[in-house]
Amino acid sequence: MGEGFDAARAAEMVAELRESFMAGKTRSFEWRAAQLKGLARMVDEKEADITAALHDDLAKSQMESFLSELSMVKMSCLFTLKELKRWMKPEKVPTSATSFPSSAKIMSDPLGVVLVISAWNYPFLLSIDPVIGAIAAGNAVVLKPSEVAPATSSLFARILPEYLDTSCVRVVEGSIPETTALLEQKWDKILYTGNARVGRIVMTAAAKHLTPVVLELGGKCPVLVDSNVDLKVASKRIVVGKWGGNNGQACIAPDYIITTKSFAPQLVDSLIITLEKFYGKNPLESADLSRIVNSNHFSRLTKLLDDEKVSGTIVCGGQRNEKSLRIAPTILLDVPDDSLIMKEEIFGPLLLIVTVNELQEGFDLITSKSKPLAAYLFTKDKKLEHKFVKTVFAGGMAINDTILQFTNPHLPFGGVGESGMGAYHGKFSFDTFSHKKSVLSRGFGGEVSMRYPPYTTKKQRI
Ligand code: NAD
Repeated sequence: MGEGFDAARAAEMVAELRESFMAGKTRSFEWRAAQLKGLARMVDEKEADITAALHDDLAKSQMESFLSELSMVKMSCLFTLKELKRWMKPEKVPTSATSFPSSAKIMSDPLGVVLVISAWNYPFLLSIDPVIGAIAAGNAVVLKPSEVAPATSSLFARILPEYLDTSCVRVVEGSIPETTALLEQKWDKILYTGNARVGRIVMTAAAKHLTPVVLELGGKCPVLVDSNVDLKVASKRIVVGKWGGNNGQACIAPDYIITTKSFAPQLVDSLIITLEKFYGKNPLESADLSRIVNSNHFSRLTKLLDDEKVSGTIVCGGQRNEKSLRIAPTILLDVPDDSLIMKEEIFGPLLLIVTVNELQEGFDLITSKSKPLAAYLFTKDKKLEHKFVKTVFAGGMAINDTILQFTNPHLPFGGVGESGMGAYHGKFSFDTFSHKKSVLSRGFGGEVSMRYPPYTTKKQRI
């Protein structure tokens, strides 16, 4: 679905899905499990097609596609399948004095028909992972993949119907007109992944129908690096977190490092050595680095680099090839505060290093900006770690590593403030797409006369 898709067709589709939902099709454990098994099978059977689509869209290496997209989706399916029965069980809770005797439980009801709008940078994972949560919670769902990753988008349209019940799960391809048509409809929840400008458009459209939203947005993710670290290990983990994930086009990739003036030279040297070890002397030729997704993003990034305010700050990289849409891993040292790159989310292979006299200034810098999606700290100092965890506001964080917080299904993944609202992954996905319904149940005993009028003075004295 996609061509000629307008509000009327969107309304028709939502009505069909709602009918399936209301008929109870999505409710049983068996239906949910069958869809999840279908998705896991899809990853196995279509591995080559998915990897090829990711290569077409981003020149992602096979290994990166496997590690950061296919295996993550497969693990998410298997984890959800393993836990689903338990998650679906009503949760018994204690009774209270005001309702004694009674029993009480919390039921996880599906919400109904939900919409998932996803982004281009991890086009497979960011589309299917929320769909797993929506299905697990018993919803009908529409997936709108990103048009900026067209090969993956059309692959979804082709293969998802082979593995999923199309009376309850649909794919709509398209860009702004199709998404606008979708957003005019009444949904029971929308999970949107992308930038905050469009996040506001989604939230405004949702408000019209009082539809709750999960907004998975981005921001500038800081890395505070203390001098008390294992520098070799720290450098590897920073480099792989920044460039190994889609060549920096990742929402939780480090955006800027903060370190002390005295430690910066060692850190920069170590990062440069690590970069060369990982990607060779000519990183523009490295098959392990994704390309920039398209020419718009290429010129957005080169504009950040060519800003005259940052001239002379490049300490590594800077090479580019417009034809192949490649930009080498680039490190910029101490760019001016008022440069564009210091204000905007980079979302590409450029990494800033900001030097400070004392690490405390780093804390001040982080808190002076909007709350990021992720924040990282490298240190062996437990006191510093404690302070970072306690005082830095962020969607999530990792200490002495990057990115890995995303891979633990027991941790919620989501932003706060400008980096988003709501969360998913593992049980959080199930909860995000469920309504927690309170159910109190009583017999006919346990009457208390004070509860009922007339409220006589005698009753008031009891
Ligand atoms: P994108 O261009 O793929 O847009 C995301 C979705 O929004 C697409 O499906 C697109 O069709 C839709 N869209 C675009 N304009 C629209 C409009 N005017 N009305 C309705 N829908 C519209 O992705 P992007 O925004 O370039 O993604 C990059 C941003 O997303 C970065 O800020 C990044 O940090 C963030 N991001 C966040 C996460 C996360 O999980 N929190 C993951 C990836 C990316």
